[in-house]
Amino acid sequence: MTTSPHTWAAAAGHVAAGPPGRPDALAAAGPEQRYRIGTGARPRPPGRAAARPAQQRRCPARTGAIDEQTWRRAIAAIEAADEVALACHVSPDGDALGSMLALGLALRAAGRRVVASFGDRDFAVPRLLRFLPGQDLLVEPARYPAAPGLMITFDVATVERLGMLEDSARNAGELLVVDHHASNDTASGFGTLRLVDPTAAATAVLAEELIARLGLPVDEQIATCLYTGLVTDTGSFRYGVTPAVHDMAGRLVATGLATDEITRELWEGNPFGYLKVLATALERATLEPLAAEAHGLVWTYVTREDRAAVALPYEEVEGIIDVVRQAGEADVAVVLKQDDDGLWQVSARSKGAIDVGRACTALGGGGHPRAAGFTSHLPPDDTLALLRPLLTRM
Ligand code: AMP
Ligand code: MN
Ligand code: MN
Repeated sequence: MTTSPHTWAAAAGHVAAGPPGRPDALAAAGPEQRYRIGTGARPRPPGRAAARPAQQRRCPARTGAIDEQTWRRAIAAIEAADEVALACHVSPDGDALGSMLALGLALRAAGRRVVASFGDRDFAVPRLLRFLPGQDLLVEPARYPAAPGLMITFDVATVERLGMLEDSARNAGELLVVDHHASNDTASGFGTLRLVDPTAAATAVLAEELIARLGLPVDEQIATCLYTGLVTDTGSFRYGVTPAVHDMAGRLVATGLATDEITRELWEGNPFGYLKVLATALERATLEPLAAEAHGLVWTYVTREDRAAVALPYEEVEGIIDVVRQAGEADVAVVLKQDDDGLWQVSARSKGAIDVGRACTALGGGGHPRAAGFTSHLPPDDTLALLRPLLTRM
């Protein structure tokens, strides 16, 4: 199934002053023309007033404030740039890489010069994300512009998360930050232009809006990238779900993208060894009902040796947290994963009572209130001793 690419500024509800060159019809059309939101009702007879004002029936994808002036300056910077240098955070996830490649593909289709990367020392696209289109845009960090005229970062909450691309960001003429981490606040945040909105379910929400405001079409490939960001950061539409999240998914699926294939790539392509390591991790899981202010903590760990026994690369253990968090007795789930350098990468999740973002930020990491992480040099027991007292209510 394919449908022709469409410019969906109107469908996305971005009807404020658009960039020059965007068709007026699109700028003028509100979302009501494309969707009837909320009631599923039959069309209203002409002349009869709407039950609720249009404003209320709209479902904005974000409620936080990025002011119009910032959007306009971001668009102007992109339109003026000779080359656009894109970057996302190290060890990219679906939202980081998907958002970056989506804008990269949209710009390239418009004839723009684009380069994209992320700053891992061992530069490789994670196995899970190799199906994403647009990977020919990627260059190794060593070949990335040292002082880009315009650099845009995706899903990057602190400049350190750029890894080897940190210097390029510091030397960039203009540094546009596109992100949804609450920890990326304006007071301490980096960048000369900031499209940061913690109410966005994914950075992909902001990437979609940026593409729409640039007046660029979203084809099936771009939609695949955006959908991957949306579906991974919402845990397959389980977390942070709003009508707008499903509206966006609907727009993306309407391009004809292969959702079944994306599902298979993201969740049904684990090596068999993953099951063995998962079993080991679950076997040693600990439940502490009185921890986290009696909201409960469940935690476990995966050592380098666990992985070596079945030749499982580090990147393959990301999904274990999603199983561990299934324990209903615990609000907080924690998985400590030893990487190839022997460091412990800690993933923390909350079901809403405890703010793991604050706890992980206090330990040098970052993230969101319900999904966060940090790096520890200490063994699991010692790391938990540091973390436990920080697990306090939202
Ligand atoms: P993860 O547990 O790796 O899926 O990460 C969950 C969230 O925590 C993501 O939003 C990450 O950006 C953030 N995060 C994870 N590890 C770190 C870290 N070492 N430093 C800063 N943020 C992190
Ligand atoms: Mn991310
Ligand atoms: Mn994200």
